[in-house]
Amino acid sequence: MNQSHTDSQQTGFQHPNNTIRRSESFARHVFNEDRMLQYLTRDAFASVKGAIFTGSKIDRKIADQVAEAMKAWAISAGATHYTHWFQPLTGATAEKHDAFFDLLPDGRAIEKFGGGQLVQQEPDASSFPSGGIRNTFEARGYTAWDPTSPAFIYGNTLCIPTIFVSYTGEALDNKAPLLRALHAVDQAATGVARYFDKNVTKVNATLGWEQEYFLIDAELARTRPDLLLTGRTLVGQAAAKGQQLDDHYFGVIPARAFRFMRDLESECMLLGIPVKTRHNEVAPNQYELAPVFEEANLAVDHNLLLMDIMDKVAVRHGLRVLFHEKPFAGINGSGKHNNWSLSTDTGTNLLSPGSTPMKNLQFLTFFVNTIKAVDRYEELLRASIASASNDHRLGANEAPPAIISIFVGKQLTDVLDELEGVSKGKLSPEEKTELKLNVVGKIPEILLDNTDRNRTSPFAFTGNKFEMRGVGAKMNCAKPMTVLNTIVAHQLREFKTEVDKLIAKKKLKKDEAIFNVLREYIKSSRRIRFDGDGYSDQWQQEAERRKLSNNRTTPAALNILTAPETLELFSATGVMTEKEIRARKEVELETYILQTQIEGRVLSELVYNKIIPATISYQNSLLQNIAGLKDVYGAAHKTMGEAQLGILEQLAEHLQAVRKKTDAMNEARKRANGLREIDKKAKAYCESVLPFFDQIRDHCDRLERLVSDKEWPLAKYRDLLFIK
Ligand code: ADP
Ligand code: MG
Repeated sequence: MNQSHTDSQQTGFQHPNNTIRRSESFARHVFNEDRMLQYLTRDAFASVKGAIFTGSKIDRKIADQVAEAMKAWAISAGATHYTHWFQPLTGATAEKHDAFFDLLPDGRAIEKFGGGQLVQQEPDASSFPSGGIRNTFEARGYTAWDPTSPAFIYGNTLCIPTIFVSYTGEALDNKAPLLRALHAVDQAATGVARYFDKNVTKVNATLGWEQEYFLIDAELARTRPDLLLTGRTLVGQAAAKGQQLDDHYFGVIPARAFRFMRDLESECMLLGIPVKTRHNEVAPNQYELAPVFEEANLAVDHNLLLMDIMDKVAVRHGLRVLFHEKPFAGINGSGKHNNWSLSTDTGTNLLSPGSTPMKNLQFLTFFVNTIKAVDRYEELLRASIASASNDHRLGANEAPPAIISIFVGKQLTDVLDELEGVSKGKLSPEEKTELKLNVVGKIPEILLDNTDRNRTSPFAFTGNKFEMRGVGAKMNCAKPMTVLNTIVAHQLREFKTEVDKLIAKKKLKKDEAIFNVLREYIKSSRRIRFDGDGYSDQWQQEAERRKLSNNRTTPAALNILTAPETLELFSATGVMTEKEIRARKEVELETYILQTQIEGRVLSELVYNKIIPATISYQNSLLQNIAGLKDVYGAAHKTMGEAQLGILEQLAEHLQAVRKKTDAMNEARKRANGLREIDKKAKAYCESVLPFFDQIRDHCDRLERLVSDKEWPLAKYRDLLFIK
């Protein structure tokens, strides 16, 4: 067995051959359109295509055919098992593998996989969070095939992307609401796009994520229970060298990281994940990977799959991937920018300015509606990216801030300012010409190179798409994508109603009506636009004056989920019922509590089992040394041992303090655990437990500075960050 084959056993891929051309290996392990054409009858193919395009149902007979074809293909490609692959509210993915193998009553073995197994499965739902949905209803949940995301072979398993719902139909996962949001935005955007082009029959939301991560040596990570159990370092003195030299960003990729990336990329290619760019990020040992953008549902699946592959490939290279948003204090954390746009089935990017005034009016329509939607639901958008780990970026001093604002650049700001001056009602022919020639007509076709770049804005227009930058590195993009597409859908629907009304009642021409509605939107959403430095104190004050939310912590951010306007939004768009939203809020709070609880426990263990013992043993060696000095030099030992005695005093001071703070934190934890109501408990963890972490850490880090390297039990920042 050659090396590449042994490697392949880990994730089970047959040919992770780095020498194959990318275009040839692309999607070889995916049951995509090419495979379907090859394996399906015409009817079955048309039926699956219909389901993808219009969401039509696939009947059982066709499902049987598709299952048969999938099985034939998968077995020929070496798969032995199949699984429904789904996204429970834990944020990760889940799977339960079943063998294709089955026994006939007479004992003969067959390979079995039919439409029934393809379309629906019943995993044991009780071990996944449901936010109380299952307590009040049927205990069971089932997974159902999502034909819009193609099945793929991962390892030796055929994975079938599915939604996960309760028996009463409530979504128990992140995919079902996303699919509903994408359907809502498709319908709403198609309605509006047809003002400009009658040929449009479908609009897809597109997503291109940029995944940031740290790569560290696996052996070193093993010495750190905090990294292993919480994904971040809870203690650790900053390395003498950090990112201040800016020498890592876009620098040469170190050899081991490079081998990891190459291996990773080959596997991504086989699975049809179109990864394209890779580079170093700002912090040492931090990197980024970005794909070519795709339809949003597929892009979300691909990102989740990618994170899983990354973990596995890292093992082969003796590395460990950190997706935590803030694994190290004092240097940059990791995010996952979500680049988003809308694209028609006629091939038009609706957020891309065009070459004609009409195309530009179309662009402005979608551009302004997005701004208006974000303005109206800024707090909900913030809530969609809230998590205990992401609070270390959004709530702390790291880009982007917790205040949502939009950056559009000078050129487009000027255009919007002009549009604010459009007359009410009918427009004179002169005004129309003026608008077409000098305002709308002046938007350059390619804004990409002209847009000034603001790197810290949480929601930036970057030439032909919006970029949502607050998404956390380890988050499932489905959450922010569900909210963004829902609010835009809702907004576009309202827009169309208003425009149609002006046309019918005020007898305005279509473009006049559009200008009229856009003018009002631009005026009423002014406050959300901000081009400056999101960290200045002035902006914090200014944002408050503009009544923009500034929720720095997850418990604060999640409140908006159950506000009347949120419930109304989700129910009007058909994306989530009140019960589903309440359940989600509960799961989010629960997750927040659990994560903070685990961190508290691990921190306490680190202090008592590692840091205090290490300090004492160093203390002992100093004491021994002083006793020796005294034996030999008598009274002179005090002057000779001045340094040692001084260090002993400092050690004692921090030992005492660290113990006291740790005990106090544990007490606070117990009090929080005693609270029954989940919001109160989350708040208590946030306000009474969490603040101890930094104080405890401060003493630990001081001890790390004092204690000898030989005694220190944890890998240090300089090793974790600079060993390549
Ligand atoms: P940055 O300057 O933010 O690092 P990159 O070029 O690394 O930008 O990333 C841009 C990302 O935006 C890529 O993942 C790309 O696929 C994505 N993207 C480009 N156009 C669109 C679009 N129309 N819709 C969604 N994503 C897009
Ligand atoms: Mg970016």
